[in-house]
Amino acid sequence: MARIGFLGLGNMGGPMAANLIKAGHDVAGFDPVPAARERLAVAGGRVAGSIAEAVRDAEVVLSMLPEGRHVRAAYLEAGGVLEVAAPGTLLIDCSTIDVETARAVAAAAAARGLAMLDAPVSGGVGGATAGTLTFMVGGEAEAFERARPILEAMGKAVIHAGPSGNGQAAKICNNMMLGIQMISVCEAMALAEKLGLAHQTLFEISSKSSGQCWSLTSYCPVPGPVPSSPANRGYAAGFTVAMMRKDLKLAQEAAQAVGARTPLGAEAYQLYNLFASEETRGLDFSAIMTMIGGKAD
Ligand code: NAD
Repeated sequence: MARIGFLGLGNMGGPMAANLIKAGHDVAGFDPVPAARERLAVAGGRVAGSIAEAVRDAEVVLSMLPEGRHVRAAYLEAGGVLEVAAPGTLLIDCSTIDVETARAVAAAAAARGLAMLDAPVSGGVGGATAGTLTFMVGGEAEAFERARPILEAMGKAVIHAGPSGNGQAAKICNNMMLGIQMISVCEAMALAEKLGLAHQTLFEISSKSSGQCWSLTSYCPVPGPVPSSPANRGYAAGFTVAMMRKDLKLAQEAAQAVGARTPLGAEAYQLYNLFASEETRGLDFSAIMTMIGGKAD
């Protein structure tokens, strides 16, 4: 079992750290938010007072932070991970961030002789709690093999996506598909209703036809057809509007950087931008149905 330093004990990091503890690992965690540290203590982890304290004795460092700027700060600043980690420590960042930051921080780690993986996840808070996340991992094959048993304590699928940054590339490509597909299901449901076709009937037909996709069959954005979907509980998240907007923005930035054509990804980003407000940003991303299903001009 490994000594693990865990940075970022929020909605995702908290339950991920708890699953590592359940699997028998020794976890020292840091988060600036007192309630997050308290949850780690309740789960049986050791609370560290700083990044340095969490990382100093660790064999593996895991981070689950909001955005690229937080990852840069935690790893690169004075007193941060790269300054403090002992030789041989394996670094794994599970946050969803831009490919460029992931590659830059991994290169800085390599310059200090430390192996670093980008390992963003799919599966949300439910998957983090149940230990059923999918990890998409970028970095050296040898580091990936070292990380695999640690990640398996938190997930059901651990997939090597190629060199550094490719985990983030996989994540933003996947979430761009998800955002576009969710909007397509919302549009179809709205059109069906106006044509006099019940949501439930379209669901029964399309879930067995070529329009079938996860946004329809597992996460249906209208109440009724999939009782477990957020639409049945006032669109309580789940995966928030703010997060979908963030991931679509990352996809657009990446597309521009490499000259890829993503017209529907661009449109999906614009629609989530339009929908995201103070009131809606914390709702589940399937709540965009309330905008798309509204009255046409
Ligand atoms: P969150 O805001 O709940 O948690 C992030 C935590 O990081 C916070 O508790 C914050 O205090 C902490 N933090 C910030 N700076 C820190 C530092 N320097 N050291 C230690 N801790 C620090 O966010 P979350 O929902 O847990 O998401 C984390 C990441 O996972 C994001 O990149 C997000 O896009 C990604 N993600 C989230 C979901 C989801 O459904 N919530 C799903 C897949 C991926």
